[in-house]
Amino acid sequence: MSTKNEHHMVPLAVLLKREVVNEKIKKPDIIYGQASQRKKGEDFTFLKTECQRVPGDGVTTFSVFALFDGHNGSAAAIYTKENLLNNVLGAIPSYLSRDEWIAALPRALVSGFVKTDKDFQEKAHTSGTTVTFVVIDGWVITVGSVGDSCCILESAEGIVYYLSADHRLESNEEERERITASGGEVGRLNAGGGTEIGPLRCWPGGLCLSRSIGDMDVGEFIVPVPYVKQVKLPTSGGRLIISSDGVWDALSSEMAFDCCRGMPPDAAAGQIVKEALQVKGLRDDTTCIVIDIVPPEKLTPLVPPPKKQGKGVFFKFMFWQKSSESSSHADKEYSEPDVVEEIFEEGSAMLSERLDTEYPLCNLFKLFVCAVCQLEMRPGEGISVHAGASNPRKLRPSDGPFLCSSCQAKKEAMEGKRPSGDGASRNSYGSD
Ligand SMILES: [Zn+2]
Repeated sequence: MSTKNEHHMVPLAVLLKREVVNEKIKKPDIIYGQASQRKKGEDFTFLKTECQRVPGDGVTTFSVFALFDGHNGSAAAIYTKENLLNNVLGAIPSYLSRDEWIAALPRALVSGFVKTDKDFQEKAHTSGTTVTFVVIDGWVITVGSVGDSCCILESAEGIVYYLSADHRLESNEEERERITASGGEVGRLNAGGGTEIGPLRCWPGGLCLSRSIGDMDVGEFIVPVPYVKQVKLPTSGGRLIISSDGVWDALSSEMAFDCCRGMPPDAAAGQIVKEALQVKGLRDDTTCIVIDIVPPEKLTPLVPPPKKQGKGVFFKFMFWQKSSESSSHADKEYSEPDVVEEIFEEGSAMLSERLDTEYPLCNLFKLFVCAVCQLEMRPGEGISVHAGASNPRKLRPSDGPFLCSSCQAKKEAMEGKRPSGDGASRNSYGSD
């Protein structure tokens, strides 16, 4: 186009190499820290910045940060910490390009969460855990969450974004309706004499959360299907806070960001935990992870942002000149808007909606592999996730993706389609 060079061809290999180099330059620096005060010892974290993926043309890395807040023991939290990443990666073909892998992540998170829950329940432990699982690849942040450990993002311009769901029955009417429709009961603890106390809980079991991993002694309608949100940060960067409910019971998101402004992540995490304890005391495990995603080589703390413009607003088009940017020609040509862009958001508990064929990469997946547990099946053996759907949206029951019989049984149980007391107890269908 407007290049002043002579018309001489650049070999494709050189172009590709340049692209790889550009990609590397453009990757943000990720600096993180965590802090925790234990009460029951049921909070666990997973922090890994050099996770590798081998897409065929070299190795690429991404980061994973996760928080697991266990209840009724720590077995589910520990099991999930040890297995979830592998189960998510197992649901994504290794040869995908970066764009394909980013697009595949939301569905892989669903498969990985459900497989982890199913595998754990087969071990017949009775504990459960919340999960907030954050994958950062370049400037793209993907979060899968069940329970009430929140992940919030503040962009460099000072806007706060909620990247996780709140699956507390008390605050989530949609989930209360889902559980009631699946055969569960939602109500408060009966303290005798008709007095009801405490938050809304699900019965049987008495859990305050509508989604978790584990909890085999609670109804199957407490599902492990995660809410997934995917956003792309502008190159001005931002700060992520992942905390267990011990923090959010005491601090608003503004208080959390404000109390540690200008501090490096490890000090910031410590400060947030300290502030939370000052408000409420140590009533529960209180854990905080702070992650700064900053332009490369800009290792000073984020500059204090301008006055807040509001929160939770996507596509807020504010363009301004980057201060510390030595943009290359290519950067200018493909410059991106300086806002947080929402790429994906879905919170449905229905596997037929979460493992959909509208998925852009359905053809890349082997047809005869279970979409949840990745078990290879013989042709005709798999059961369509749309089988038995009341509103199949033009899809035939013979359309994929497919589930093995064991994962199909789990799906039906989660949707309340298996009558209770039919002898098929929650841990008996995992015979493969
Ligand atoms: Zn399966």
